[in-house]
Amino acid sequence: MDLKDIKTQELVKKYNFKFSKSLGQNFLVDDSVLNDIVSGAEVNNEDFIIEIGPGVGTLTAQLLMKAKKVTSIELDNDLIPILQQELGENKNFELIHKDALKVDFNELIGEEKSVKLVANLPYYVTTPIIVKLLKGGYNFKSLTIMIQKEVAERMNAEPDCKDYGSLSVLVQYYCNTSIIRRVPPTCFIPRPKVESIVIRLDRLDEPRVKTKDISFMFELVRAGFNMRRKTLWNAAKTLHVNKEKLEDAFKRSGIDPKRRAETLSLEEFGLLADSLYDIKL
Ligand code: SAM
Repeated sequence: MDLKDIKTQELVKKYNFKFSKSLGQNFLVDDSVLNDIVSGAEVNNEDFIIEIGPGVGTLTAQLLMKAKKVTSIELDNDLIPILQQELGENKNFELIHKDALKVDFNELIGEEKSVKLVANLPYYVTTPIIVKLLKGGYNFKSLTIMIQKEVAERMNAEPDCKDYGSLSVLVQYYCNTSIIRRVPPTCFIPRPKVESIVIRLDRLDEPRVKTKDISFMFELVRAGFNMRRKTLWNAAKTLHVNKEKLEDAFKRSGIDPKRRAETLSLEEFGLLADSLYDIKL
């Protein structure tokens, strides 16, 4: 089929496709959203695109018209023959039948230089997928993803705002974030209960802050946000370091122990983590 003619409703009808709620299947039916995802990702003919969850291939077809190559990863057995039938003739298309959480992205990327991930993600696994993609250190230039509005707002949040938390720190440690657009439930079949947002994460050449031990910094971030209402002093006590040493570490970091995690910038988390790391040794 001509790539321009790949339309969600028609394919769902043609193959009598039954949606699976547990696989997070809400397919896009709005051309303006498809265009905004592809233009938001700035897809060009040098790009190797990795797509997670192609569904019946509607976004995939738009990507194939612009990119050098598209590799789509789909878990649902029932979608594989549809995608092969509709898109299989395109030489620049590759389909991987697998759980995205089990894919070795380094193997997929190989020597490719301009790698972008573009996806309307299944919402039930958004966070584990993002954590895997960011922490895995893969050579992605950017991730342009449609996700649940609340999750996008958390990724994009700044200190002192109610959405700011561990996910904001994790994402912003590795990436610059920009919101591309909001997407109402009417743009999908079946309609999800929540609003969505297309967000772009541009991977930084170097993580935003230098820190002695990244796992330790994230441990501190988690401890801080697990006790949102409590002070950093109380969060740091969970590290089981003696009181004098702890006081000294706060002094050296220049951060007031009475502050709460939600007020700290990434740079401040880095400073505090490094001071605490020294006394933990
Ligand atoms: N890209 C299509 C669109 O925009 O219309 C479909 C998006 S739909 C929100 C999510 C897709 O992810 C579905 O095709 C679903 O089967 C697939 N999926 C769900 N869990 C997955 C996983 N763990 N790995 C890969 N694909 C998955």
